Amino acid sequence: MGRTVSESAGDPEIRQIVEDARTALLALSCLVPAGGLRELDRVIEDMEEMISEDFEPYFSGNAAFHLLAICQRCGRCCLEEMEVALSDQDARRIAEFLGISRKSFLHRFSRPHTIAGPLVGSARLIRKEEGEACPFFDQELFGCRVHQVKPQVCRAAFYLSKMNLLTCKRDRQFNRFSGCQADAQMHDRLAEVAGILGNDADLWADLSTISPPGISGQGLFQLLLRLKGMEIYFGADRVKPLVRRLRIARMPDDDELRPLARLYAASLIRREWQKEKNQTRQQRPRLDGGEK
Ligand code: SF4
Ligand code: SF4
Repeated sequence: MGRTVSESAGDPEIRQIVEDARTALLALSCLVPAGGLRELDRVIEDMEEMISEDFEPYFSGNAAFHLLAICQRCGRCCLEEMEVALSDQDARRIAEFLGISRKSFLHRFSRPHTIAGPLVGSARLIRKEEGEACPFFDQELFGCRVHQVKPQVCRAAFYLSKMNLLTCKRDRQFNRFSGCQADAQMHDRLAEVAGILGNDADLWADLSTISPPGISGQGLFQLLLRLKGMEIYFGADRVKPLVRRLRIARMPDDDELRPLARLYAASLIRREWQKEKNQTRQQRPRLDGGEK
């Protein structure tokens, strides 16, 4: 059974995690102008048009995972991954960077996607054979030679890739990435935190004494996390005007959001556990009463 944050406060580790989150929320509160956020409702509507709320909690949850996973640079993504998705925009951008036409780029560097249908649209995959590195992987750099313009799936380290968000939304669960040490380590760590945390309401109740002008602390964090996800997903230029309209002093750095993202991501993991437990409970009578 999970304990409330207050009950868990005797645990030095959880005390530190909550204390870090509290310090982070206090610092984030200072970014809100004294008169509160401006145009909040209209900015939220514009954000909704950029990425629908239907993608929640998967969009913000994956933004939190993105902030918390630390890539071990094992090279698997660039050396072994067979399915690096390439959107039409990715193809245009990389072709321009390489100084070749989009058509020639697609011919030389892409192949059809292995999944067909509306989920994939016009997306293709980077062309590579089994056992070959991505054609843009540079062994000397031990990195990507089109780094500035690399596909969105590589920039977003797969959590916030279009394909991942679509499958999370369709399957109503967060995806795990097998073979990725960063994902495994992050989930192990979050599972430890989730195991000692109480429920969401207790968690935020513990932080509710921090209230920036005109918005709750939880509301501010969730707004900033969504903006951070959009910054990663669409690029900083699309997000700057929204931040200006809100009169937020500046977009916080990843480090400033991480302590709260840790608690939020752990609470999502707890919710997934709860969902699995409920499903098992619902299935049990059917199994007992089923055919022998
Ligand atoms: S598999 Fe994971 S740890 Fe390895 S390079 Fe990719 S993101 Fe990094
Ligand atoms: S495009 Fe760059 S980052 Fe993406 S898989 Fe290829 S080498 Fe790696």
